[in-house]
Amino acid sequence: MITDIFPASRNAALSRLAQFIPGAGQNYAFGRNTDSGPDQPSAVSKLSPYLRYRMITEHEVVQAVLERHSLAAAEKYIQEVLWRTYWKGWLEMRPSVWTQFQAERDGQRDSFPNARAIRNAEAGQTGIEGFDDWARELVETGYLHNHARMWFASIWIFTLRLPWALGADFFLRHLVDADAASNTLSWRWVAGLQTAGKTYLATTDNIARYTNGRFEPKGLATTATIPADLTAINQRPVPFSVQVDEQKPALLLVTPDDMNPESLFSSSTAIRKAVVAADPATLWGDNARGFVASAASDAAERISGTFKCPTDVVDTFDVETLITHAKEAGAEQIITPYAPVGPVADHLAELAPRLDREGISLVQIRRKWDEKFWPHATKGFFPFKEKIPKILGEMGL
Ligand SMILES: Cc1cc2nc3c(=O)[nH]c(=O)nc-3n(C[C@H](O)[C@H](O)[C@H](O)COP(=O)(O)OP(=O)(O)OC[C@H]3O[C@@H](n4cnc5c(N)ncnc54)[C@H](O)[C@@H]3O)c2cc1C
Repeated sequence: MITDIFPASRNAALSRLAQFIPGAGQNYAFGRNTDSGPDQPSAVSKLSPYLRYRMITEHEVVQAVLERHSLAAAEKYIQEVLWRTYWKGWLEMRPSVWTQFQAERDGQRDSFPNARAIRNAEAGQTGIEGFDDWARELVETGYLHNHARMWFASIWIFTLRLPWALGADFFLRHLVDADAASNTLSWRWVAGLQTAGKTYLATTDNIARYTNGRFEPKGLATTATIPADLTAINQRPVPFSVQVDEQKPALLLVTPDDMNPESLFSSSTAIRKAVVAADPATLWGDNARGFVASAASDAAERISGTFKCPTDVVDTFDVETLITHAKEAGAEQIITPYAPVGPVADHLAELAPRLDREGISLVQIRRKWDEKFWPHATKGFFPFKEKIPKILGEMGL
C-alpha cells in the first residue's frame, strides 16, 4: 500500500524531516543524484508528497534545515525546495500552459497512431534496461527519484519518440506527489520546451554511474529532437491577494492543495465548521487518491483540535455540499488556502459565482511564502535563485 511507503500523516512528515535534517548539507549535495534503487538508502528527503499536499510547508522545511545548517552548507537542498516554489509561481503567471497541456494530452490520447508503443512503455515492456524498471517502480511505489524521472522522460521523448504530454500524463496518474506545475514544467524542461533550446538527453554512462551500475541501457538517442511546441504562453501577474475577515463566521474548506490550514489561519478566526475534501476528481491516480484519503482524516483531527469546530471529511466539494455545510454552520463566508493553477483552482473558479448568488463569499488566502517568491518566477530559475537569500532574510530565515 502507498501509505506503507508514505504514511499519510503530518507526524510522519515531521519525523521524516527530522531524520533527514542532519544530511541536508554535504550528504545531500554529494549524494542527491544517485538512485541506488527503491529499497536502498538514499540521500534525498522523500518529502515530496507531504510538500505537494502541504502537510508540511516549504517554509517550515527550510526553517528546520537552517536551524541546523548555514545557508551556504544547505544551499543545494534549499534550492531544490525552491524549484517547487519556482514552478508553482511560473505556472501561476501562465495558466494557459496548464490548459494547453491538458488539451494536448487529450488530443494525443485520441490521435497518436501507435497506442501499442504507449502501452508497452507504461507496462515496462520496451526492452530498455532501467526504463522498464522505472515504469514498474512508478506504478508500484508512486515515487521515482528525481534523476530517474529525468532519465525516464528523456528516453520516452528522444529514444522512443513518444509524445511528451502522454508521458507527463503517465506520471500524473501514478506519482503520489503528482503536481500540475512540477510535473508539466519538468516534462517540458526535459523536452526542450521550457528553456529555449535546452534539452535533457539521458546517456548510458550517466545512468550507469548514478545507478551504481544497476543499469546500462544501450541504444539511447544521441541527439535530442525538440518536439513541436503547440503552447501559446500568455503571461499574467500573480492574482491579487486578499485578507481574511477573522470576525465573519466562516466555513473552512480544506482541499488537497493545502492540508495544513492551522499554520495559515489564526485559531481566533471565527471558523464555525470545517470540511476536508479528499475529492478524487481533483487528483489523477489511485496512489495520490489513497494518500490524500488518509491524509484527510489526519487533517480533520488536527483542525477540529486547533479551531475547536466540528470537522467533516467529504469526498466532493460541489456547490450543494458546500452550501449545506455553510448554512448549517451559520457561515457567511467560505475560507480556504489559495489553490494554485490546477484542478482545485479550476473547480473553485466554477464554484465562486454560484456561492456568491447564495450570499456566501469564497475567500482564498495565500501564504506569505508564495506571496514573496511567486512574483519572481518571471524568467528562468537562475535569476529567481539569485533572489533566494534576500527573500529568506526578509522572512526572518
Ligand atoms: C519529469 C519530472 C517530473 C516530475 N514530477 C513531479 C511531480 O509531479 N511532483 C513533484 O513534487 N515533483 C516532481 N518532479 C520533481 C522532483 O523529481 C521531485 O520533487 C523529487 O524527486 C521528490 O523527491 P524528494 O522529496 O526526495 O526530493 P528532494 O531531493 O529531497 O527535494 C526536496 C523537495 O524539493 C522539491 N523538489 C526537489 N527537486 C525538485 C524539482 N526538480 N522540481 C520541483 N521540485 C523539486 C520537492 O518538493 C522535494 O520534496 C519531477 C521531476 C521530473 C524530472
